[in-house]
Amino acid sequence: MVESNTVTVTYSAVPITWTCEICGQKFNTEEELRKHLEEAHGVKKIKCPFCEQSFDSYEELWKHISEAHQKEVAIIVIAIIIVIALIFWLAKE
Ligand SMILES: [Zn+2]
Ligand SMILES: [Zn+2]
Repeated sequence: MVESNTVTVTYSAVPITWTCEICGQKFNTEEELRKHLEEAHGVKKIKCPFCEQSFDSYEELWKHISEAHQKEVAIIVIAIIIVIALIFWLAKE
């Protein structure tokens, strides 16, 4: 017999709610709100690959990335350069 451990789950006293900006409906998760926006209002939100924020257009997303995630972008660019350099180096062998 495997005795199950007692797991204490604490829920935050104030539930986080996501409100639809268009019709005011409330949702428990951002995923639910996004699904609602897409199905009810035809709004497609583009999620930032670096954080939890989402945007209406790629223009806004790029603006946000260039302002808030310069460090992450620099790391990715450096990583890509290293990979390309490695491929060239291996190809020479
Ligand atoms: Zn709505
Ligand atoms: Zn972001």
